[in-house]
Amino acid sequence: MERKVRVRFAPSPTGALHIGGVRTALYNYLFARQHGGDMLLRIEDTDSTRFVPGAEEYIIEALQWLGIGIDEGIGVDTPLNTRGPYRQSERREIYHRYVRQLLDAGKAYIAFDTPEELEQKRKQTPNFQYDASTRNQMRNSLVMSKEEVEQYIQEGKQYVVRFKVEPDEDVHVHDLIRGEVVINSNILDDKVLYKSADDLPTYHLANIVDDHLMEISHVIRGEEWLPSAPLHVLLYRAFGWEDSMPQFAHLPLLLKPDGNGKLSKRDGDRLGFPVFPLEFHDQKTGSVSSGYRESGYYPEAVINFLALLGWHATGDQEIYSMEQLISDFSLDRVSKSGAKFDYEKGKWFNHQYLQLRDNKLVAEEFMPVLEAHGIARDIYPQATIEHIVGLMKERVNFVSELWEQCDFFFVAPTGYDEKSLKKRWKEDSPRHMQELLAMLEAQDDWSAEALDNLVMPWIASKEYGVGLVMNAFRICLVGAARGPHIWEITGVLGKEETLRRVRTALQRLSI
Ligand code: GLU
Repeated sequence: MERKVRVRFAPSPTGALHIGGVRTALYNYLFARQHGGDMLLRIEDTDSTRFVPGAEEYIIEALQWLGIGIDEGIGVDTPLNTRGPYRQSERREIYHRYVRQLLDAGKAYIAFDTPEELEQKRKQTPNFQYDASTRNQMRNSLVMSKEEVEQYIQEGKQYVVRFKVEPDEDVHVHDLIRGEVVINSNILDDKVLYKSADDLPTYHLANIVDDHLMEISHVIRGEEWLPSAPLHVLLYRAFGWEDSMPQFAHLPLLLKPDGNGKLSKRDGDRLGFPVFPLEFHDQKTGSVSSGYRESGYYPEAVINFLALLGWHATGDQEIYSMEQLISDFSLDRVSKSGAKFDYEKGKWFNHQYLQLRDNKLVAEEFMPVLEAHGIARDIYPQATIEHIVGLMKERVNFVSELWEQCDFFFVAPTGYDEKSLKKRWKEDSPRHMQELLAMLEAQDDWSAEALDNLVMPWIASKEYGVGLVMNAFRICLVGAARGPHIWEITGVLGKEETLRRVRTALQRLSI
């Protein structure tokens, strides 16, 4: 029988979720949906020293914002939650059982070496590694008597449980993206699986036990975990779970925009773009990091952008909805090499989604921007705002950028741009504008067509030059040589406001 696809996203709550982590979550989600499987969210909080309050809530909110649905685990209240708890710090009893199993089977041992002793050993022996070649020189249950070990524990001495890696063995990891990876067990150290000091397992043990008990079929995670995969294979084997071991897929790293190294949490604000899905307020340091949501991105654009950072489709299609990604995604086409984080491309995606977006929604989103500039909601009919955003959105990537493109629709020029004046406001301009004003005052039909039929023949008959007149007119209405087609502007402003602006300009600009 085909095994049911069950994948998990297993972040540690150590701060804001990095955009690379979001991509991992996305690929897991796409894979689960495509195979009619389950997507789990598990919180790996066994490293209490790195715990950051609010991080878990942040992760849940970010996934929700992006539309990455969770079927089981943290953040969802569902009858499917039968394999919990899904927060590792709440699973201590479970881990105790499995640590004991390995100890009883002689596949792990107890070690009492203090941090100071280990430090000393490292100083004495260059490249010291706690493994088959050194473990007999150390203070652990392999060299101590049973009674002595008991006594140490009775006395409350702190200890760790280490995995007993057998030497000289080739360990094979089959990776769905990288193929067969083989490493020799000699390079592995006897990893710590459990620490009595905080009564918690380490990542490695908790991860394997949970993936097994939660019946995970595929482990899809970042490349930084590839070096741990051989150890994980050995752990599955030690538990006797090799037959049901999940399949592995290690995703390529996200690289800095110049390709030099891994994109880090610190790069974002240093390079001027967000590396987090949502703005993050670090309660410990008080610092604030920018987020895609607060920077004005649409979640669809972020999803599309991230999907193509490391995965490519067969053709050259670039715009993908979540539904299309679910049907087209495949681990076969995830690249092995790192993906350069091209922030400009991210903006381009947002631009595309803005163009596709219903102007009604864009107008709604623009309202707060207008209000922030002192334009009350009800001054303009909704249809006018929709028309304006529809007219101007092709020039911007974000709704927040619309204001600087179309402010003149809402407020009359308070000054005139020097450069535009120099280039476009000539000696004859006041006279041209006087004549135009007189003509427009007498005009009733204010449609673009009627105005064009009025003004163009006049310019032609007087041999004034279209550019000269129309640019001067534009300066009167906008305050600079910018904006959409002139009749679009007069259309929105209406007759009265258009005339008012020409009169004001004539007063201020006539010499
Ligand atoms: N807790 C690990 C992390 O923060 C999970 C790694 C894995 O998926 O196995 O990335």
